[in-house]
Amino acid sequence: MAKMDENTYQCEICKLHYKDESDAKKCQDWCSQHNSCNLEITSRSLEASKSRHTFS
Ligand SMILES: [Zn+2]
Repeated sequence: MAKMDENTYQCEICKLHYKDESDAKKCQDWCSQHNSCNLEITSRSLEASKSRHTFS
């Protein structure tokens, strides 16, 4: 898990960003074990919250 700045953490595997360090860690743990995305986790990413606004 990479820290981008004070409020942004990135899963180093799927490259999604999270505001919450623990969410980024959960995502990275899941990605490294399952080689796929967990919607429950990725829906909390910054990308998911942005796309909800863009495409709604
Ligand atoms: Zn991930």
